[in-house]
Amino acid sequence: MDLITRANNVIMETYKRFPLVFDKGQGCVLTDINGKQYLDFMGGIAVNSLGYADPGLMKAMKEQMEKLVHVSNLYWTKPGIELAELLTKASGLDKVFFCNSGTEACEAALKLCRIYGKLKKSPAAVEIIAMDQSFHGRTYGAITATGQKKYQKNLEPLLPEVYHVPYNDIEALKARISEKTCGILLEPIQGEGGIHPADPEYLKEVRKICDEENIVLVFDEVQTGIGRSGKLFAYQQYGVVPDVVTMAKGLGGGVPIGGIIAKNHVAEVFTPGTHAATFGGNPFVCATAKYVIETLTAPGFLESVEEKGDYLKTKLEALKKDHASVKEVRGMGLMIGVEVDTDLSEIVAKAMDKGLLIITAGTNAIRFVPPLVITKEQIDQAVAIFAECL
Ligand SMILES: *Cc1c(COP(=O)(O)O)cnc(C)c1O
Repeated sequence: MDLITRANNVIMETYKRFPLVFDKGQGCVLTDINGKQYLDFMGGIAVNSLGYADPGLMKAMKEQMEKLVHVSNLYWTKPGIELAELLTKASGLDKVFFCNSGTEACEAALKLCRIYGKLKKSPAAVEIIAMDQSFHGRTYGAITATGQKKYQKNLEPLLPEVYHVPYNDIEALKARISEKTCGILLEPIQGEGGIHPADPEYLKEVRKICDEENIVLVFDEVQTGIGRSGKLFAYQQYGVVPDVVTMAKGLGGGVPIGGIIAKNHVAEVFTPGTHAATFGGNPFVCATAKYVIETLTAPGFLESVEEKGDYLKTKLEALKKDHASVKEVRGMGLMIGVEVDTDLSEIVAKAMDKGLLIITAGTNAIRFVPPLVITKEQIDQAVAIFAECL
């Protein structure tokens, strides 16, 4: 029996998967079990920030693995402390909570908002405002905050007192805010919703309102964070600092780690017993993530991401000239969406056939989120293949 038949016998069908079985990876190239190679412009959905088989990353993993993989959070270990020091310094925020995924990071942030509201605003301040077309994950709190009905089907009843407003619409947000609002949750660039960046003026105005109304401002940077935008966090592109930032995807370079970083006045409402995660921030994942952060914050690395991102964006923009189907190119750094008015899945399938991995975002965009170590030559290659598929 072939592997895919065996898989379908024993693995739940929660994904519509491509008929590809991968065997190994090197740099930004994946090889399937038949030996066919693929140039990877989806990077595990913005997860494999350093590509595959990065020697330094493997060394960091191996060394920590041989020393200590896991101990309970009832004790301390050094990698988590060091990683938290790096993250707080680089983010300008104060305290970290570690978990294992993006959705868990959003849950932690939602809990912080509610506890903060009750303790520091009023017992009735429990309302959360999130954005239409957002994506925050699959657990119940995060899926409630997600502003896309298709993900919520048959899951009702959802978490109460969570509201949605149109993204980038300051008047709609103001109209929804009340003395009961404890938190506002948004992605600085909507990822799953179709690669839609926030307007700089909008973010500044949201920050101002949150200060005036004593509301916790949460940026979900699970996708945009960890260098993806060309800065360590996308809010650093905007010069607007949230009270809480979530992170996951790119943080571990492939190992499952998530977390939030918060300002002290918010972080302090988490006290012993309020929140926990058994695996959260264990020494193995933290030593791995520490290597990722050290690499990204080394001189020149993020500048190269910005530069390569601009290069990719310009090349994709140029496709408009010969391809009427290309409507718009959006995004920042190595998080680019190309809006096309043709069948998205056909483009993705054609590209796959020609050895290029890309994915969709929202209803009308093709997403390019390659490893941050992608080269200009690989960008040239990818754009050439993409152009053939249009
Ligand atoms: C992917 C994503 C999540 C969910 O992350 P998981 O690790 O799949 O739980 C949450 N928020 C954003 C913005 C994401 O892109």
